[in-house]
Amino acid sequence: MKNKILIVEDESSIRGFLKISLQCNDYIVFEADSGEEGIRKAKLEKPDVIILDIMLPGIDGLEVCSTLRKTFPELGIIMLTARTQDLDKIKGLEFGADDYVTKPFNPEELILRIKALLRRMSEKTVEKEDSIIECYPFKIDTNGRKMYKNDIELEMTPKEFLLMKLFIENPGKAFSRDELLNLVWGVDFFGDSKIVDVNIRRLRKKIEDTSAHPNYIETVWGTGYRWKKTESAD
Ligand code: CA
Repeated sequence: MKNKILIVEDESSIRGFLKISLQCNDYIVFEADSGEEGIRKAKLEKPDVIILDIMLPGIDGLEVCSTLRKTFPELGIIMLTARTQDLDKIKGLEFGADDYVTKPFNPEELILRIKALLRRMSEKTVEKEDSIIECYPFKIDTNGRKMYKNDIELEMTPKEFLLMKLFIENPGKAFSRDELLNLVWGVDFFGDSKIVDVNIRRLRKKIEDTSAHPNYIETVWGTGYRWKKTESAD
């Protein structure tokens, strides 16, 4: 997917050359020539990154920056500045900018900054999305492949870990033994689906309060197993 960049700059010549270099690098570009217009377009177009000039008519870039930062904490903001006193403020990061470029600048340098910023932003998202799945009283750290119950780590085999992850990600869904076999052991596995029962039994001993009366992994008679859907699992 192409990234969207909003340029907020009142000097049309700077906006013009920036737009061309950004488009050559496959970005979708939006423009605004004032701070007010910049805020309006940011809300409307939801850009990934804003190139924000500080010296603007009306509300200045620093104010635009702190306003947008409150509304869109995930937005990437690169400030453009010509004045050293502004640079000091940006460096203090009190306005929430991610990076800055001083005028005059080479568009290639700005593009490198944008790429680096987008990379940092996507790494942050991946960590957030993939790392911790919570399903009280359980917590799964998918990056670290660790499993906790009430914050106490449970020892899991890789297959048990995959089973747990599958269940917790699909609360209330009944899985047949064959489905579990395919999803956890893989379609290449040749063997008895009894291995599923063996693993579920072992898993219950580890996670249930009383494994003879399971609270979390329910048996679906004639089919397989299901993670009990609780109100908080939605
Ligand atoms: Ca300006």
